[in-house]
Amino acid sequence: MGDNSSGQPRRPFWLRGLEAARVADRCGARTRRGTACQSPAMPNGRCRIHGGRSPGAPRGERNGRWRGGFHTPEAGADRRRLRELIRQMRETMDELP
Ligand SMILES: [Zn+2]
Repeated sequence: MGDNSSGQPRRPFWLRGLEAARVADRCGARTRRGTACQSPAMPNGRCRIHGGRSPGAPRGERNGRWRGGFHTPEAGADRRRLRELIRQMRETMDELP
């Protein structure tokens, strides 16, 4: 009977991973139904289909769709700040006698 001297049936090799998946944290991504995903999460907290394997496309100029930087979060925040400033200046102008 080979080297399996314990008398117990040998556990299949994939059982270790299956048990790890069972006790893993759950992925909390929102599904198209509006519920949480519930799949086993990878070390970064998301499952294999919700960003667990990779953090996503490169940010900024390294991304293939980069078109000069007008649409970056920073540029958008700058424009928002400037719009708010202009709005406040107009308000102040209206309050003058
Ligand atoms: Zn998920």
